[in-house]
Amino acid sequence: MHTEDTIAAISTPVGPGGIGIIRLSGKDSLEIADRLFSPQGKDTVKKSLSHRILYGHIIDPSTQEIIDEVLVSIMLAPQTYTREDIIEINCHGGAVPMRRVLELVIRNGARQAGPGEFTQRAFLNGRIDLTRAEAVLDVINAMTVQSQKSAVEQLRGGLSGKIEAIREQLIDLSAFVEAHIDFPEEDIGALSVKEMKLRASEISGSLRKLIEGSQYGLILREGLNTAIIGKPNVGKSSLLNALLEHDRAIVTEIPGTTRDVIEDYLNIKGLPVKIMDTAGIRNVEDIAEQEGVKRSLRAMDDADLVLLVLDGSREIGNTDRELLGKSVPEKTIYVLNKIDLAGDDFRPVSTPLPAVEVSAKKGTGLEALKEKIMVTALNGQAECGTNIVTNTRHVHAIEKSLASMSAFIEELSKETSPEFLSVELRDALDAIGEILGITTPEEILNRIFGSFCIGK
Ligand code: GDP
Repeated sequence: MHTEDTIAAISTPVGPGGIGIIRLSGKDSLEIADRLFSPQGKDTVKKSLSHRILYGHIIDPSTQEIIDEVLVSIMLAPQTYTREDIIEINCHGGAVPMRRVLELVIRNGARQAGPGEFTQRAFLNGRIDLTRAEAVLDVINAMTVQSQKSAVEQLRGGLSGKIEAIREQLIDLSAFVEAHIDFPEEDIGALSVKEMKLRASEISGSLRKLIEGSQYGLILREGLNTAIIGKPNVGKSSLLNALLEHDRAIVTEIPGTTRDVIEDYLNIKGLPVKIMDTAGIRNVEDIAEQEGVKRSLRAMDDADLVLLVLDGSREIGNTDRELLGKSVPEKTIYVLNKIDLAGDDFRPVSTPLPAVEVSAKKGTGLEALKEKIMVTALNGQAECGTNIVTNTRHVHAIEKSLASMSAFIEELSKETSPEFLSVELRDALDAIGEILGITTPEEILNRIFGSFCIGK
């Protein structure tokens, strides 16, 4: 880890914009800024108080060329994002001024920052734990207001607080068990076993509660994988367009990821809903019906939620029947489209669960469909409160911890020696520590920070 050197990066998107920010963090930040910055007033960067902004120009010291007119923000350690000295040079937006200022900064002693390196320093310097570092990325990439709110809660340390409380309980329980290792002459009495079981069950209960809430949390952060399927011409593409028209979610492309299938995101009452293989839905003219069915079945398998669309104005055919037969009712919403064409003698197609009747063309029934999506996605659960687990990594760690706690409780009943009991608790504790970044392996840390953009 290179926390000795001073890092720099462009922290705003590169492209025309009102302002662009070049950020520096590290012990030489002030020195480097002073070399390049010619202030309008008498204060140099080094002489300035913390959390002040100075006006002036960036000048190339080797040619005396004025590169840009800027504002320089000075933030002295430790009250900064990274807990190191930070300088932010606000220049004019646009690729050329920003790159030229960054080049100058690097030529004068800074190093180009890697992805997420500012946030990584905040973590390494103890300002934020790992859940809060991850939340930074979640706030940036939030697809709906609801996702963003939950990420902000996590950034404020809500989830860390809950995890930390469980960790404290685990440490207490470990101490209790260790005491019996240190004084082996005293057998673990019936009273102690009862007490330990009680405490262990409490901890398991808290862990279980976190896992329960994560169903909603994971959707908030990652989106609900949804497939719209049905035979050609039933109106899948029209339905998608009708939903997108009102409820498109805002999605930021995460650097370093390429999406091999085109996806669209809907914002259904705050839930980000990811429509899989949008290209396949919109562009099916030249595929044979049987190939279409194969694709649909594959999509049905992969999806968390399936919208199975049928033409409500016609008799159902063999393909419809095949899809209906293979559908999994728990995760399928049956949609009867083109209801505007159905005559007076319309009798709905019989589907394994009640169907939602819509007209993609006229826009009718869409509210009921959205309501149904919400209810099916949450599996009957009420929306959860705040500080929920939204991240698969956290869920896995909690499950690991819970498994160790279950093993601990089982061993307790078998009157296992305290040494063995202590190992189970240590595992449970390590798993919880991974969430906060206390016991997280280096490669996982690298992967987490590597998924940030440069400059964050
Ligand atoms: P896909 O092949 O399943 O994606 O179907 P499309 O969305 O391309 O629709 C096939 C045809 O049905 C188009 O001509 C649409 O205009 C028409 N269509 C789709 N939905 C409706 C609807 O709700 N009512 C009516 N009357 N026509 C519709």
